[in-house]
Amino acid sequence: MCAMLAIDGGKPVRPTMLRAGFHGSAEINDHEIESVLEVLRAKRLFRFLAEGAEASKVALIERWYCERLGRKYALAVNGGTSALIAALFGVDVGPGDEVIIPAYTYVATAAAVIAAGAVPVIAEIDASLNMDPADLEAKITPYTKAVMPVHMRGVPARMDEIMAVAREHNLIVVEDVAQSNGGTYKGKPLGTLGLVGCFSFQQYKVITSGEGGLVATDDETVYDRARMQHDCAARFWEGSADHPRYPFVISGENYRLSELSAALVWAQRERLDPILARCRAVKRRIVEGLKDVPGLQLQDVPDPEGDCGITFAFFVPEAALARRFAAALKAENIACGTVYDNTIPDRHIYSHWPFMMSGLAEDRRAPWKNPFYKGDVQGYSPTQCPKSLDYLGRAIMIFIDQFFTLEDADTIVEGVRKVAQALIR
Ligand SMILES: *Cc1c(COP(=O)(O)O)cnc(C)c1O
Repeated sequence: MCAMLAIDGGKPVRPTMLRAGFHGSAEINDHEIESVLEVLRAKRLFRFLAEGAEASKVALIERWYCERLGRKYALAVNGGTSALIAALFGVDVGPGDEVIIPAYTYVATAAAVIAAGAVPVIAEIDASLNMDPADLEAKITPYTKAVMPVHMRGVPARMDEIMAVAREHNLIVVEDVAQSNGGTYKGKPLGTLGLVGCFSFQQYKVITSGEGGLVATDDETVYDRARMQHDCAARFWEGSADHPRYPFVISGENYRLSELSAALVWAQRERLDPILARCRAVKRRIVEGLKDVPGLQLQDVPDPEGDCGITFAFFVPEAALARRFAAALKAENIACGTVYDNTIPDRHIYSHWPFMMSGLAEDRRAPWKNPFYKGDVQGYSPTQCPKSLDYLGRAIMIFIDQFFTLEDADTIVEGVRKVAQALIR
């Protein structure tokens, strides 16, 4: 006998909806507000004003990230997408090149490749819900220049395998860490495994100033090129338009970060690790409670120690069942969703990237129309990554924030077990 599901009129496992909210912005404190006010009172809003440039808030967060990541160079920019574009210019990805990205990532990853003039090539994901290293290898052509692993929803990608493929085929690795700021992989901070790592401070990310981003690398040339892309006057702030250290100049598009945004990130950085610690404890408890439920396959997390803990995902055997499962779990007052449901245009799934699926083909800026491009890509189809759609269609995801308690974790375990017992036979 199993308990009657709330969706069938039974008593829900909890009386009110358990739903995660934003992380960083949910508890902006006086210290953070004061940090922004400091910038306003000083009337010093622009990073590169000659006076005080060294102590600008932007410079402070760059130095902090260098230290935290153990990288030589960090460049703060005005968004995660800007970070990706600056990084792609940094590694000299451009017209004629292909860049491999996963089928499951925020639409901006693909947009950044196109902005750099290169052709995005989509690789399947696997049970980690991140790039499948085997399909990465299968998608390599003579034109592949770079690969962009994305650490989605706090979960590290399979970096050992991805780096091995990249080394063997001489590919540049640009990590998209927008959703996993503070995560690690086998002890190394995410964003330090590839040649360059890109972060975002947009409101949906772990810490936030509404908009903002950062590029980190150990490579001086990559840094200098990214810096020029982020500011068309990069040379001039140094007092010389023809700096002897730099043998080339690129035109740039001004992605500079405001001092106001930097001030917020600077103060909020103190909450990054505490937020993750609380989310991780909750996730560990959920995983512990659900690791052996018949019929449920938990997301395969490549390095659970480094997982940010901001989401918990599992698979059921079929997509139709996933939709019923999610509805039943919601009725138990546990907010959750299926990841892929073809009635919802989720912009994290390649088949819903409109400029890839349709518009681009008509656009003279379509990167494959560039005369430098000699490869075979001529467009994209919503069915081209069936394995990814299968995983995403069977996946159910629960978002976790720092306000969840261990008791909340226990209710999630109870709710998922209850629904699984009723629906999975
Ligand atoms: C949010 C996000 C971006 C883009 O960041 P913005 O700051 O919104 O420009 C890029 N990639 C991924 C995976 C993201 O989640």
